[in-house]
Amino acid sequence: METDRVLVAIRKKDIVYRIPGTKFNRCCSRCSAVVGIAPSGRRLLQAFPETVVLCGICARADRNLMEEGSLQVAPGAVDELRDYFRRD
Ligand SMILES: [Zn+2]
Repeated sequence: METDRVLVAIRKKDIVYRIPGTKFNRCCSRCSAVVGIAPSGRRLLQAFPETVVLCGICARADRNLMEEGSLQVAPGAVDELRDYFRRD
């Protein structure tokens, strides 16, 4: 893949943990599956509109993306998950 920045998102039908504020207004740029974008991902897309959105399935099939060190966590994504699991 030639792009610098890719946001890997979970397909709507595969989402197990739904982070509050997740929106389903984006599609995978490869297979067009509807994906969920959590607030951290939306901030990333706002800051870098050229970011390519991929679903987990297409991302897994992309060898370059799966190379060591090329995947990063979106800023704030870990906090979102932590808050989610702390809720009662
Ligand atoms: Zn896809």
